Amino acid sequence: MKVHILNGLTINTRWPLHWQTGQVCLLVETRRGLILVDTGLGLDDYAHPTAIINLFRLVMKMPFDPNQAVTNQLSRLGFIPQDVRHIVLTHLHFDHSGGLPDFPWARVHVHAREYHDCLEGRYRRWADGGYNRRVLVHQPDLALYEKIDTTWYGFDAIRLPFKQEMYLVPLFGHTLGHCGVAIKRPQGWYFLVGDAASFTEKVPGALLRFVVGPHHARLRVFQVAHPEVCLLTGHMPLEFFVEQPSL
Ligand SMILES: [Zn+2]
Repeated sequence: MKVHILNGLTINTRWPLHWQTGQVCLLVETRRGLILVDTGLGLDDYAHPTAIINLFRLVMKMPFDPNQAVTNQLSRLGFIPQDVRHIVLTHLHFDHSGGLPDFPWARVHVHAREYHDCLEGRYRRWADGGYNRRVLVHQPDLALYEKIDTTWYGFDAIRLPFKQEMYLVPLFGHTLGHCGVAIKRPQGWYFLVGDAASFTEKVPGALLRFVVGPHHARLRVFQVAHPEVCLLTGHMPLEFFVEQPSL
């Protein structure tokens, strides 16, 4: 079993500091095909960018390169798009789910609360502006989860229905149905916490809580206590991707 770490979207922030970041997408090889965790932007986002994507391009200096669409990265790894059988999402913000329409045959696994909040289309919190409902227009085959059925390292967790041990770990806050995704590997665990934590502490605490929600500090404590778990935030410095042997 191998897990590839892909950069699904480069974003360069200018405030509060200058950072070059990539968006973490995990590609899990299994005997029954590939499981993709978060998608980055999709081909339609590059062809017909929405207002929020254009705003990000302006503010975040995104290179906006369609080669970063995961579907365009697969051949480099020896796969074709049809190999992606399942997609697991931390949340449905446009930068984490824009690639869904590129894999219309894939089963989409997401927390029920996240799906319904996105679909409802109500604007109650700033984070609701990050949803792009066109990623669901193709009516994907959905597996929705809500019931906590186990724990993982003390976190409430939901076991995903794969032979590989994988869990959805509810980390509500950034969005109301946001989850982390834990994946067991022979070398230890990957724990992709999406936008529930930042890769850096160099952000004022109040801003951090506003943007990523209430779990950042707890997740950082967890990371130090469990070095056998590789904690990944949804956006990581670009250097991180260069260091990955699978890239
Ligand atoms: Zn987000």
